Amino acid sequence: MKTYDLAIIGGGPSGASAAFEAAKSGLKTVIIEKEFLPRYKTCGGGFVFRGRKDMPFDITSAVEREFFDVDIRFEAKKMALNTKRKHPIISMIMRDEFDFLMVQKAQELGVELLQGQKLVALDFKHQLTTLTTTSHTFQAKFIIAADGALSPTAKLAGWEETRMMCPALEYEIKVPDEDFRRLSTSARFDIDVVPYGYAWSFPKKNHLSVGVGKFLKTKKGVDLKTHYKNYLTMLGITEVLEEQGHGFIIPNTPRTDGFVKQNVFLIGDAAGFADPLTAEGISNAIYSGKLAATSIVESELNLEKAIQLYDEKLNKKLLPELRLGVKLAGFFYENKTLRNILLKKHGQRAAEYMTDIFMGDRTYPHDFREKVKQKLKLSLF
Ligand SMILES: Cc1cc2nc3c(=O)[nH]c(=O)nc-3n(C[C@H](O)[C@H](O)[C@H](O)COP(=O)(O)OP(=O)(O)OC[C@H]3O[C@@H](n4cnc5c(N)ncnc54)[C@H](O)[C@@H]3O)c2cc1C
Repeated sequence: MKTYDLAIIGGGPSGASAAFEAAKSGLKTVIIEKEFLPRYKTCGGGFVFRGRKDMPFDITSAVEREFFDVDIRFEAKKMALNTKRKHPIISMIMRDEFDFLMVQKAQELGVELLQGQKLVALDFKHQLTTLTTTSHTFQAKFIIAADGALSPTAKLAGWEETRMMCPALEYEIKVPDEDFRRLSTSARFDIDVVPYGYAWSFPKKNHLSVGVGKFLKTKKGVDLKTHYKNYLTMLGITEVLEEQGHGFIIPNTPRTDGFVKQNVFLIGDAAGFADPLTAEGISNAIYSGKLAATSIVESELNLEKAIQLYDEKLNKKLLPELRLGVKLAGFFYENKTLRNILLKKHGQRAAEYMTDIFMGDRTYPHDFREKVKQKLKLSLF
């Protein structure tokens, strides 16, 4: 039976990033992907600069547009903010091309790709685990679960569900030329257009990626389809020439029952690493893939050491940032009245801060509750 150092389940950005890092250091690595690449992935395709600037290879061929400024609008306050940077704040990609490029770069380093097959069983034995897919059986010393929000691998390895799952809809639409010209000049976020969430309009080469998402768990559901239709009206779109709609979930809080079980390491959406406030998940998917792979490489294939290293690496930056993000998202989406009082006076500063986070120049403020209290006092009195 064929044996690998590392088997990665999922050929999205997290899996491809892990594969690239592992193969760069000489690990015998395989990616199992249930679809045939390139494949459509439900996603706005807005790739923020904090992810792009750390890419280990050029991704220009997969970038459809770049935005050096973004519009953030608060519908309830009729407030429009704009931020600008020297580098592209958001690069617009289509995930079929982008993910395929990432996997090809890993293949160039010797990674094997077994596509069109699902992982269906894991059998943990001593040093090696037997993996069964819908068409192959092989063994691996380490497994990385990069199989996205539903992560069947995490279920097979014994994880319970502890992430917060947020629903989102994505529509790839073609609109008349005049509307496209008008709307393709800016990447925009419209906060509060959806309760506890936002809507976005991300221009691609020849079409718009328009979406709506609710990013906080509430007892009452939200009719996202109706909010999407209302958003089109708000954008001034009266005619949609072509429309492909897709719905999916974004896990935007990290798991609370650990990120390694047996020899299975979780990364990306499988771990719940999307940003809790913005639900932007591509950059942390890529980053966590790199962390897991380098932990395995640096451990020299020693499981205990690799687990310890992954834990240390996650706790250095990513997990503290996500935990702060969870608190901030709670405040942002739940306390709309207070938040809007603050934004009236400090809106531009808040937008600049958020943009710095997108650029990877800053992290969420550790003392945001204190800051909010102080600013609120100043705003009210
Ligand atoms: C509507 C919507 C809009 C979004 N917009 C943005 C955005 O604009 N910007 C942003 O940064 N993030 C966005 N996100 C989040 C982003 O898409 C995810 O965070 C990101 O894709 C996570 O990457 P991943 O590699 O962890 O998982 P995925 O990209 O989901 O990749 C998982 C891969 O695993 C494969 N797989 C699954 N099960 C198996 C199996 N059993 N065997 C083998 N293979 C399997 C899948 O086919 C897939 O290719 C959005 C998400 C949604 C739902």
